[in-house]
Amino acid sequence: MSDSIWRSLKQQIRRVEKIRLFLDYDGTLADFAPAPDIILPDPALISLLSRLVETEKYLTAVISGRSLLHLRELLPMKGLLLAGTYGLEMQFPDGSLVTALDYGQVRPLMEKLLPKWQALLDGQVGFFLEDKGWSLAMHARFAAIEDARRVLDSARGEIDQLSAGEGFAVEHRARFLEITPVEANKRRSVETILSRYTPAKALPIYMGDDLNDEEAFDAILTAGGVCLRVGKEPVPTRAQHRLSGPREVRQLLNKLAGSD
Ligand SMILES: [Mg+2]
Repeated sequence: MSDSIWRSLKQQIRRVEKIRLFLDYDGTLADFAPAPDIILPDPALISLLSRLVETEKYLTAVISGRSLLHLRELLPMKGLLLAGTYGLEMQFPDGSLVTALDYGQVRPLMEKLLPKWQALLDGQVGFFLEDKGWSLAMHARFAAIEDARRVLDSARGEIDQLSAGEGFAVEHRARFLEITPVEANKRRSVETILSRYTPAKALPIYMGDDLNDEEAFDAILTAGGVCLRVGKEPVPTRAQHRLSGPREVRQLLNKLAGSD
């Protein structure tokens, strides 16, 4: 991590009483697991986040596409705001829970789609179907690219046939497809956390590695905050700073935890 990032952040941090930190999990706090259902809590990360939680200046939120259940298992510690399924389901530091809508509004559609997607994956290699409860995702990170394209296109076709309506959003990338309620959106969730659960003068800082985070950057920038785009690829970003990967993220968090 370059010293200039730390120097610039340090100046901003000194001027405020509170910092609202938003941290993505996969690709930001930790390297990607081989499959999304592999839950390996990392003691070093847990102790780093615990130090942040103990630093009164920081209000720390972990915001992820993973389910809240997964986040709880990955980060079995108190004091964090855990925002699962892109913030649709949140657990507050005191343990209380808030969901942006009812499970019953979402689940019937997922139940219809699930067997259709399972049938598409029959005999396929390199795919992973993830039922997050609130959303359904198909990962194709380890499939041949032409297989990924063909199968994901078919899976997208199954969604289109269900005519899910305006309440649902689809994310379709080369190796990933997901259907979620529109409430499962990091930008919306960041706006909610800032307006309802963050002191007005707190400085928001967000670290994230993908397009969902990039959307959330809009809300952070509007609120006068600081964004850090994580990853080695020189992709376009609205973030003011870049970090190369989870290692640099942790180095920076370590410095934050040691400052006041
Ligand atoms: Mg990520």
